[in-house]
Amino acid sequence: MIHLADLTAYLDDLLAARDYDDYAPNGLQVEGRPEVATLITGVTASLALIEQAVERGADALLVHHGWFWRGEAATVTGMKRRRLKALLSHDISLIAYHLPLDGHPSLGNNARLGQRLGFIEQGRFGSGPNGGIACHGRLPTPADLDQLAEQIAATLGRIPTVVSGGPHPISRIGWCSGAAQGAIEQAACLGLDAYLSGEISEPTAHIAREQGIHYLACGHHATERYGALALGNHLAERFGLETTFIDLANPA
Ligand SMILES: [Zn+2]
Repeated sequence: MIHLADLTAYLDDLLAARDYDDYAPNGLQVEGRPEVATLITGVTASLALIEQAVERGADALLVHHGWFWRGEAATVTGMKRRRLKALLSHDISLIAYHLPLDGHPSLGNNARLGQRLGFIEQGRFGSGPNGGIACHGRLPTPADLDQLAEQIAATLGRIPTVVSGGPHPISRIGWCSGAAQGAIEQAACLGLDAYLSGEISEPTAHIAREQGIHYLACGHHATERYGALALGNHLAERFGLETTFIDLANPA
């Protein structure tokens, strides 16, 4: 059991939340009961995840994709009302960390994604503090694009969308979870053989081909599952909280 205020202060520090210029507020987004013993973690604070938290009697929900994104409608109607009502009527807090959870050097989505895929991290790039939230490094042994795509599909349970940047094998690779396909240009400038993110946009394919860097879109959800899971495990260990990671499948 921990006070909600102590938990969120600890997380704000741990994840260096104030160092990020983000698209949504990081930390406590919706205040519920003042003590936390049971925590549900997940990727996105969807109604389905809230219903799971209610069913399990959770005190708080800790996610990567929270609410109140920059530019969204400020009114509480429709989907937003239903989500808020479900949370508030059960006194459950919503705690969310977006970029800080991507970027954390050991618990973050990118650090954990690289570990899962067996990549050896050597540095950071892209936007964000401490060199950026994107990672670069190398494969333990060079692989060709098909081999790497197969390995990723087996690990993430999802077949990536692949764009070949040429005939070269892959030794140096960059990765950044979610919708970070735009960082392919920086990955190409670093001279990486391949770059991996969650999503793909129309220009990404042309950049990959013309800059000679392989691109793999491995799923926004599929690449962002590991930070919330790692953070929940950390909090269970540190404070004895009962934490459960709930993976609600998303094809995106
Ligand atoms: Zn995301």
